[in-house]
Amino acid sequence: MEMKDMVSYAGSHGFVYQGSEIYGGLANSWDYGPMGSLLKENLKNAWIKAFVQKRADMTLLDSSILMNPQVWITSWHVGGFSDPLMDCRACKQRLRADKLIEEYAETSGDDEMPKEWAGESTPPENLTQYINEKGIKCPFCGAKEFTDIRKFGLMFKTSQGVTEDSASQIYLRPETAQGIFINFAQIVRTSRRKVPFGVAQVGKAFRNEITPGNFVFRTREFEQMEIEYFCEPESIAPGKHLECHAKWKEDCWNFLIDTIGIRPESLRFRDHGPDELSFYSAATSDIEYKFPFGWGELWGIADRTDYDLGAHMKESKQDLSYFDPFTNQKYIPYVIEPSVGLNRLMLVTMLNAYDEVESGEWKRAILRFKPSVAPVKVAILPLVKKLSTEAKSVYSLLSEHFVCEYDEAGAIGKRYYRMDEIGVPFSICIDSENFEQKQVTVRDRDTGTQETVKIDDLVEFFRKKGC
Ligand code: ATP
Repeated sequence: MEMKDMVSYAGSHGFVYQGSEIYGGLANSWDYGPMGSLLKENLKNAWIKAFVQKRADMTLLDSSILMNPQVWITSWHVGGFSDPLMDCRACKQRLRADKLIEEYAETSGDDEMPKEWAGESTPPENLTQYINEKGIKCPFCGAKEFTDIRKFGLMFKTSQGVTEDSASQIYLRPETAQGIFINFAQIVRTSRRKVPFGVAQVGKAFRNEITPGNFVFRTREFEQMEIEYFCEPESIAPGKHLECHAKWKEDCWNFLIDTIGIRPESLRFRDHGPDELSFYSAATSDIEYKFPFGWGELWGIADRTDYDLGAHMKESKQDLSYFDPFTNQKYIPYVIEPSVGLNRLMLVTMLNAYDEVESGEWKRAILRFKPSVAPVKVAILPLVKKLSTEAKSVYSLLSEHFVCEYDEAGAIGKRYYRMDEIGVPFSICIDSENFEQKQVTVRDRDTGTQETVKIDDLVEFFRKKGC
């Protein structure tokens, strides 16, 4: 499936609309429709359930988008959080030099990388030299003439209060993680968690991306689901943080496959080589998904050592170290950071679920979501309109427990297909004969098989199916 087909499918089925459409849109902004907002909510809840609710060593936080600007100076985002920007001289297209090189390496199989390769942090002159030596072309027009590379800051600025001078300038957060670090001491004090423990957070982040695109893969406003997992540092327990990193890689991978239902052949790990690692990172791995445009990062899992807590401790002069009550040792913990974009995860879930079924001469689309993530779990469809009172009584019963859809318009077969298109795993057909015997027919989206179920047993039936 090409991405443009997914954009059109998502738009016409109420998942994702072009943002500000009635005013001609706003470039690369998207609104989540009735199905998309439910799907996103289910993915978020599945993540919270797997990584917070089911784990005694995890807790949740919801910190502000707007923070003291010093947070971003200390974290190195102000000044340091930038991408290497260049323009194609022929078609004027804006390009990210590091991404152009990554695409070249991926498609050509050339495993030589620029000197001191560190992704977007590679020295610009090394990127230029590499692009020239390899004769890399503009992906839009094929020209080989580019402007010099310049660093483009990704932070969104805004101002707080009535004046708009430099003193009132603040930033929209470019990641949720820093909110966890600056609240570290409070969380330890109030949650009484002992190392190793982790803090999870879901929320909006903003980056003034140079090359947003590929639908919701890269946008300027997006949601992140981040975890900071604090463990013993190298000086206290040598190698422990690396074990922890390896365990998080496994947990994130298993979540994608077992909980969300992503096919393993569409996923791969990409470990960052020593050149690409940030100077403070002991290990970083990405889980990548095979998107229609090629492999792309879905989930970054980084061992950030004690860099962030150490930097905030030094700058704020507050004690952000941890006292281990069992060993009486005081230290700054190391941290493992698994970070995934919720919008990217939703896109992956949709691409993974999309399927087409041959019906005679024509094909119809079906979204094979796992029941637990499907936006709507059960459709209630009276066989004929005059059974609407009976059908609505079943809707009232089930909508207490599950998100349901009610539809009485059109032939029953067409209504089943409409439900398949939005990925509803089960449809109930209400007919008078069965209803008189206090039962209904349940159709399974994936197999098309139908079974008769007592109305009193429906809630339990759908629970057992994982709705
Ligand atoms: P990239 O190399 O694609 O720019 P990144 O390495 O800067 O990504 P991180 O800072 O590690 O990304 O962010 C963690 C996760 O947040 C990413 O794996 C991705 O799922 C998501 N993410 C990052 N930037 C965006 C964006 N602009 N739009 C949507 N999701 C994003």
